[in-house]
Amino acid sequence: MPRTLPDTPLRPATLLVRGGQNRSSFDEMSDALHLTSGFMYETAGQAEDTFLGNIQHYQYSRFGNPTIEALQNKLAALEGAESCRVTASGMAAVHSAMLSHLKAGDRVVASRALFGSCHWIVSTLLPRYGIETVFVDGTDLDQWRDAFKKPAALVLLETPSNPMLELVDLPAVAEMAHAAGAIVVVDNVFATPLLQKPLQLGADVVVYSATKHFDGQGRVLGGAVLGTKKWVDEVLQPFIRNTGPSISPFNAWVILKGLETLHLRIPAMCANAEKLAAFLATRPEVSRTLYPFMDSHPQQALAKKQMSAGGSLVTFDIDGGKEACFRVLDALKLIDISNNLGDARSMVTHPATTTHMKVGPEERARLGITDGTVRFSVGLEDPQDLIDDLTQALDGLRATGGGKAGGVARAASPER
Ligand SMILES: *Cc1c(COP(=O)(O)O)cnc(C)c1O
Repeated sequence: MPRTLPDTPLRPATLLVRGGQNRSSFDEMSDALHLTSGFMYETAGQAEDTFLGNIQHYQYSRFGNPTIEALQNKLAALEGAESCRVTASGMAAVHSAMLSHLKAGDRVVASRALFGSCHWIVSTLLPRYGIETVFVDGTDLDQWRDAFKKPAALVLLETPSNPMLELVDLPAVAEMAHAAGAIVVVDNVFATPLLQKPLQLGADVVVYSATKHFDGQGRVLGGAVLGTKKWVDEVLQPFIRNTGPSISPFNAWVILKGLETLHLRIPAMCANAEKLAAFLATRPEVSRTLYPFMDSHPQQALAKKQMSAGGSLVTFDIDGGKEACFRVLDALKLIDISNNLGDARSMVTHPATTTHMKVGPEERARLGITDGTVRFSVGLEDPQDLIDDLTQALDGLRATGGGKAGGVARAASPER
């Protein structure tokens, strides 16, 4: 008999280290990497019984694999969800959750402040299939209320949002959405399951980019969708099985190993982010600093109600627009320019010319993204070294008086 975990409810740290383990007959200590596309049957009859559903047997890694299942079980236990499916990327998770549920003639309501590719799915892809889409300012409950005057099938929102760290009042929006007939899909990447539990706040489905904090070391892409067993089995699983947004068992294994330290990394990153936000707010070159738990954040009270810490991202504006901003980014010696986030290594992104270039200047203005806006993913380095790096980069801007653009050798390039 394989040993199973105790029946008593286990705490998040224990679930992250131990949850979901799918031990093989070799009794390995660490999670086994089942790098196989298919599985063999002892007899033709066993294959037939498997396809008939009479017996449980792995068939093909597009829709079932022991390493992938271990990751799904760990994530479901951590989230407090009945079921989970992991996918090849965060975007595979978002589009699978949406397209599996929607059909022509449906209506989708989304908060405007979305990750660039999520915005493209709602604004460009869904209308091609005869789905009506409506964007609202996610912070404004009156706009949500107006949007729900007509029935809706699905709501997509992100809280806190990328990159402006806006919050959506989850219980209030979920109540209105349910009354209008919609399921609520929450992209919980910025909060992670440790800081915010959308299912407990009224959401029906939670999606993640596992590329970010779950891996946490910038190695592989992955995504996850969590919801009720009925919805996952009847709506999501047939879509994934037949369209193939499946994750490699290797990437699932890397993410499994990454998760074992999530509960240590997230509080450390939040503590660093809080220090860096406080530092940036003191600098005269920085005209605005956004961090959900900081007193100056317009939705601090809501953040403290829905989240247990402010997260690992800080967004700030450098006075002097794109030129000044690029000069500061190019002068950084430790912090990298890169458009990933949630990595142990700190990095900065210039959303207007990278992740949010394609949404256009008008939509950027509506979102509050200026040419001086920087998204800062705070990592696990010593915070004083990060402060020192930003100090020398910002000091350089003042020394030269903010005139002509500096070198562009390290300028950010469009979304890769
Ligand atoms: C990164 C990200 C995604 C997309 O995830 P990928 O793994 O890059 O496909 C979706 N939503 C948010 C908020 C993200 O940060």
